[in-house]
Amino acid sequence: MRQIVIIGGGAAGIMAAVAAAREGAQVTVLEHKDRIAKKILATGNGRCNFTNTVQTPECYRSENPEFPWGIIRQFDMQQTVAFFLELGIYSKNRNGYLYPNSDQASSVVDVLLMELERLRIHILTETEAVGIEPVRHGFRIHTNKKPVSADAVILACGSKASPVTGSDGSGYALAKQLRHRMIPVLPALVQLRCKEKYYRSVAGVRVQGEVSIYADGEFLAKDCGELQLVNYGISGIPVFQVSRYAARSLYEKKHVTAVLNFMPDFEPGAFAAFLQRRIAQRPEKALGEFLVGLFHKKLCDLWLKLGGFDRGKKVRLMSDLEIKKLASLIQHFQTDVTETNSFEQAQICCGGVDTREVHPGTLESYLVPGVYFAGEILDVDGLCGGYNLQWAWSSGAVAGREAARATY
Ligand SMILES: Cc1cc2nc3c(=O)[nH]c(=O)nc-3n(C[C@H](O)[C@H](O)[C@H](O)COP(=O)(O)OP(=O)(O)OC[C@H]3O[C@@H](n4cnc5c(N)ncnc54)[C@H](O)[C@@H]3O)c2cc1C
Repeated sequence: MRQIVIIGGGAAGIMAAVAAAREGAQVTVLEHKDRIAKKILATGNGRCNFTNTVQTPECYRSENPEFPWGIIRQFDMQQTVAFFLELGIYSKNRNGYLYPNSDQASSVVDVLLMELERLRIHILTETEAVGIEPVRHGFRIHTNKKPVSADAVILACGSKASPVTGSDGSGYALAKQLRHRMIPVLPALVQLRCKEKYYRSVAGVRVQGEVSIYADGEFLAKDCGELQLVNYGISGIPVFQVSRYAARSLYEKKHVTAVLNFMPDFEPGAFAAFLQRRIAQRPEKALGEFLVGLFHKKLCDLWLKLGGFDRGKKVRLMSDLEIKKLASLIQHFQTDVTETNSFEQAQICCGGVDTREVHPGTLESYLVPGVYFAGEILDVDGLCGGYNLQWAWSSGAVAGREAARATY
């Protein structure tokens, strides 16, 4: 019977274990924490957004852009939903974001544990892999306990994001020992810290808007949704979605700016015209009263202060230039991004094992045959919204199946 050892008991490692065991392999999972699946419990605010019904190649990013989709297609969203349905997870659809109907990430973990037990997969917890030694006909995996032998090894150690769940970056060291190249690993799906001090005055404000990221003046990415202003900068799902571009550019020492549009429904000229009509409706209002009902008061106060406006001035006395200036502050609010939050706060990492050294169909290492990769350890990151778990399920399923089927 083929012996497969999987390093890492997260989403990708568990899926790889199930896939390999279903192919008839004998599977052992090494996990350095006291239990497996810790990160899954934290996903989706404890509800586990385990995939998304909208799937396109653009939902996945990598320095090798074709790579992720070739794997996703082999075990796609439909197969993932069917897999979990068979294990007992009935899914709930919130605008395409899929959750277990129980709204409990623990139910996803529970059904996976039941399946691991049913398939008699060995789980060795508090067992840290520290080295992989190729030996005749296989591998010896050195751990903090006894060495473990394997015909094939799957590296599913995760990234550096949220290290409290176990992903402390030690998998990268194992990959480097095997001479694998790394794409620099940076926090992603993370808050952005900004230079300006005024964020303290608007902390706590949540507002629909659009965020665009520029590096040295070049547009990189944008996203729309609920922006959250925090005392050190900007957060919220749209900020998470563009954060990997900011992280990469900051790493490259570029000047990164974020442009916030607090009224994205209007074209720029149309918004200034809208303000003109609003002035015509109530020309006697003072500027301090004019934006009440349109935006959060803290934001209005900030724009008026930054624009140097006189709050007591009657709006009918505003010049066209002043109206344009106010519209621009609202729709083209520029802020300097100085850094991202750290790996501790990041949901995922961008970067990782360079996928150009990994077979795009099987996830086997080109450098060390018999070694496979799955999950976030690879240089693949997905959008926020179930895509990172989908990547873990898909890559785990492919690596597990291929490692079990290989004959050499
Ligand atoms: C707070 C939070 C919320 C999230 N929410 C969502 C969401 O709702 N939807 C979504 O799609 N994605 C979400 N993500 C991202 C998603 O959870 C991850 O992308 C995914 O779980 C990664 O799976 P993985 O198996 O590759 O890595 P991990 O889950 O990190 O698993 C790696 C495992 O390997 C173990 N390990 C590491 N090194 C060693 C070693 N040397 N020896 C032994 N064991 C080792 C670790 O302890 C860990 O158990 C979220 C992430 C966070 C942090």
